[in-house]
Amino acid sequence: MIKTEHLSKKFGNLTVLREINLQINEGEVISIVGPSGCGKSTLLRCLNLLERPSGGSISIDGIDILDPATNVPKIRQKMNMVFQSFNLFDHLSVMDNLTIAPIRLLGKNSKDAERKAAGLLAMVGLAEKAESFPDELSGGQKQRVAIARCLAMDPEIILFDEPTSALDPTMVSEVLSVIRRLAKNGMTMIIVTHEMDFARDVSSRVIYLDEGIIYEEGSPAEIFDHPRKEKTRAFIHRIRSIGCHIASPDYDRYTMNAEIEAFCEKQILPSITRQNLILVVEEVLRAFRPALENASIDLTVAWSEKKERLEVAFDIAGTPANPFDESLAPSEQVSAVVRGLLQEVDYLQADGRSRLTLSLN
Ligand code: ADP
Ligand code: MG
Repeated sequence: MIKTEHLSKKFGNLTVLREINLQINEGEVISIVGPSGCGKSTLLRCLNLLERPSGGSISIDGIDILDPATNVPKIRQKMNMVFQSFNLFDHLSVMDNLTIAPIRLLGKNSKDAERKAAGLLAMVGLAEKAESFPDELSGGQKQRVAIARCLAMDPEIILFDEPTSALDPTMVSEVLSVIRRLAKNGMTMIIVTHEMDFARDVSSRVIYLDEGIIYEEGSPAEIFDHPRKEKTRAFIHRIRSIGCHIASPDYDRYTMNAEIEAFCEKQILPSITRQNLILVVEEVLRAFRPALENASIDLTVAWSEKKERLEVAFDIAGTPANPFDESLAPSEQVSAVVRGLLQEVDYLQADGRSRLTLSLN
């Protein structure tokens, strides 16, 4: 239905979209997620020609829409957009907001346009508000009017740009319910959202946008449960981390512990977690002490807000024995106390390097 090839967009020297190759089929619900400023809005705005792409192509049903001969209003009607800030006409009643474009742009007569509008308002739960003005409505109601107004143009595709991010938390679900219903009815939609749980259960496909490209895409289960790339993982799990480079057995443990403490404090972790973490790190480094004589270790401590879990990884240039191997001499192993603090232990060796990953209870 929609296909972009090598789509790019620059603003002056700033390259926002480098190379977007996207294909969307009828009935698909695509969620686009990614850090703020990565170009999600720009992509939607390029698709319905609110921005002129700098390069590449966009076709809809096989027709090149960047052709100068394209009927732009017709494209926007086919691919209508719902904005974060509603963009209702404040001086018009709800009914008039819904009928003005069908009458003026589609040439509908006002009776038909009003009949259709009344049906759409009922569908979004606002039949009673036809004669109200936008400033008499809550944010959630305004956004539902904006969705009904979008549907009044009989679009084939709806683009949603963070439809709930301007709303009070109490009003998010009423808007999401309406979008869910559209998805159930088979509407083709592209939704930019930060509502991860919603994206997970409404989408057929999830796109993670970063660095100007489709950095990773897949089913909701693939993206949310098993992202393949580190950056996607960090975004999805909202992982925050710190790293320390440990170059020798005489590393400055006071500085390192202070950094770990500061990190834990920033994540508002309880002091017992902080103490446990430091104990785990010290013991593992003690067990790796012989390895540190001729190799360095990179330590990463990461807190995943989503999983509410603290992870520590030790990357070692070398292949020392696993300090969790119970067949080693007791002095080369970590203590039972430290084992008891851990939920998962994973030791991987490949290409002369080792990685020990631990997650704390
Ligand atoms: P997102 O929606 O992912 O948060 P945007 O698409 O809004 O990101 O913006 C991507 C980048 O492009 C940002 O750095 C933003 O400042 C820049 N940008 C967006 N629109 C314009 C514009 N009209 N002129 C110049 N820079 C812009
Ligand atoms: Mg945006």
